[in-house]
Amino acid sequence: MKADNNTLNPASDELKKVTRGLEVSEEKYRLLFEASEDPMWLIVDSKFELCNEAAVAALGYDNQAELSSTHPSKLSPPTQPDGQDSYAKAEAMMAAVVERGHHRFEWVHRRKNGEDFPVEVTLTEIPGNGGSAIYCVWRDITARKANENDLKLAKEEAERANKAKSEFLSNMSHELRTPLNAVIGFSETLSSGTYGELNPKQAEFINHIHTGGELLLLLINDLLDFSHIEAGNVELSISDVIVEDLFVAIKSLVSNLIENKEMTLHIDGNLDQVGAINCDRLRTEQVLINLISNAVKYGHERGNVWITVSPEKPGFIKISVRDDGIGIAADQFDNGFKPFDRAGMARSGIDGPGAGLSIAKALAEAMDGAIGFESEKGVGSTFWIELPLSVA
Ligand code: ADP
Repeated sequence: MKADNNTLNPASDELKKVTRGLEVSEEKYRLLFEASEDPMWLIVDSKFELCNEAAVAALGYDNQAELSSTHPSKLSPPTQPDGQDSYAKAEAMMAAVVERGHHRFEWVHRRKNGEDFPVEVTLTEIPGNGGSAIYCVWRDITARKANENDLKLAKEEAERANKAKSEFLSNMSHELRTPLNAVIGFSETLSSGTYGELNPKQAEFINHIHTGGELLLLLINDLLDFSHIEAGNVELSISDVIVEDLFVAIKSLVSNLIENKEMTLHIDGNLDQVGAINCDRLRTEQVLINLISNAVKYGHERGNVWITVSPEKPGFIKISVRDDGIGIAADQFDNGFKPFDRAGMARSGIDGPGAGLSIAKALAEAMDGAIGFESEKGVGSTFWIELPLSVA
């Protein structure tokens, strides 16, 4: 017997050690569960097995026993914000966790006092526990939701204000064009001499009225374009445009500008071999004329403008307009394409509303192209657009 006792004792010590170890480890996890600030519970066979103090406090119950014995249907409103029945949605969420092992989603809980509040829930399936134990951690996201809602309201308000501004710009531009056309038309008629010869002073002043009217009209057209683009109403008429033909028009449209400043226009690239681009012809002319007139405007008297047409990345053609003018300071690079930002030129004595490049960018992008520039202060600038080649 003695001998037997001796052989049994070590085994029972071992057993005690293992049991004690398990108790310590279980105690550790229970403490973690209890001390967590995030509400947690364990669901076994669709029933609450355990819940922690944080869950009791968040839902406004008196103690764990009260919460554990509460029917789950009391812990949520009958429907969730997406309109789904809470019970059916909870079943679907449980099915998702069984399928994937874990699942995260937003939910609305109901406190004991009937108050609803949003939470983010993470469900994790605990294997080896009969297969249907689900560990659930959740967190009150009322503050996050309120922020999201404030942001959404602020964004809607900003969009509404922007739309109102675009409509105002568009209406004003239309209203201004009618009297302006009268100013331009009648000043042309007067200077033509149809209603009698003008003396030199009268002719000079009528000429000022006419030039001023034309400039205002350009500005109003820019505003109108800008408001249409901002409102997302750019109407494009896309077709295959032969690059060589495009340049015949461009050259004649910019020749006066170039000559007035005694500049030289160089065109490089085998225009007859480039083929066609897929674009809106008038809008492409508008963009190129804008880039060339800037090259002239910010170029020096008797300076140069180089236009290069080259295939770049596959399927695109790049048209670059380079000048040896005043250039742009590096700290203004980010402002070039910002609407009504003159990239440091506001007090330069060179006039302009600062809308041309932002319009050009919107048009290039609307035609599935791109626009950009490189520049060095005092050396010159190169502005380019890339447009898609026509598919043969
Ligand atoms: P605007 O010429 O009416 O000011 P743009 O939108 O066409 O407006 O151009 C925006 C700004 O970019 C200009 O005010 C100018 O500072 C700069 N910029 C554009 N083109 C050139 C250029 N070729 N050389 C130097 N600066 C330029």
